[in-house]
Amino acid sequence: MKKILLDLFFPRFCVYCQREGDYLCEDCLSILEILQYQYCLCKKPQRLPEAGKCRRCQNLSLNGLYFTLPYQNFFTKKLIHQFKYEPFARELAKPLASIIIAYFNLLEKSLTYYKDFILVPVPLTKKRQRKRGFNQAEEISRELTKLFQISLITDCLFKIKETLPQVELPKSERLKSQKGVFLVKNEEKIKKRKVLLVDDVYTTGSTMEECARVLKMAGAKEVWGLAIARG
Ligand SMILES: [Zn+2]
Ligand SMILES: [Zn+2]
Repeated sequence: MKKILLDLFFPRFCVYCQREGDYLCEDCLSILEILQYQYCLCKKPQRLPEAGKCRRCQNLSLNGLYFTLPYQNFFTKKLIHQFKYEPFARELAKPLASIIIAYFNLLEKSLTYYKDFILVPVPLTKKRQRKRGFNQAEEISRELTKLFQISLITDCLFKIKETLPQVELPKSERLKSQKGVFLVKNEEKIKKRKVLLVDDVYTTGSTMEECARVLKMAGAKEVWGLAIARG
């Protein structure tokens, strides 16, 4: 299934071994170890995807988290790094999106399950996005909309203040540092909707949690995190 998807949509060269055919060849993709389970925000494995999160995490705004690869894996790190920092990086959004599709298939959830969802990428500040040339979360989201029926909403959630890298802050400061960072406009587009909030990596979780909080304040019914990897 993974191979078929890649062959079908993205005949290119493997980013690891340079083999012709895919951005990620079958061998390298198999090393990526796409996860087959869903985990709670606190890393506890969840048997039922619908359960979303464990009892301890019930007070969090995020309904749950989907992530496809363990970040500790060398190949995952390389993949994410190349996506974010190398010149050809932007194109990697395609195989990354197909990894997400492969993951959803492994969860044995048909893609039609997500037809009522909307995709909202975690935004960058205008300044940061101009500097990088693109928002990596938005690129992945855009590719996802090509692979299955889901709408992309990019004019609702905005980042209006720069933040420090969250890993550099003590745990107690992280959520506080996110206050007033995100702004919701055009609320009618997310009201009563189920949101898949997309980012490349989920590390401390404070960014996604704050996004989920403001989206729910604005009326979103559910907000699920969707990341390529978890730190
Ligand atoms: Zn390869
Ligand atoms: Zn939990």
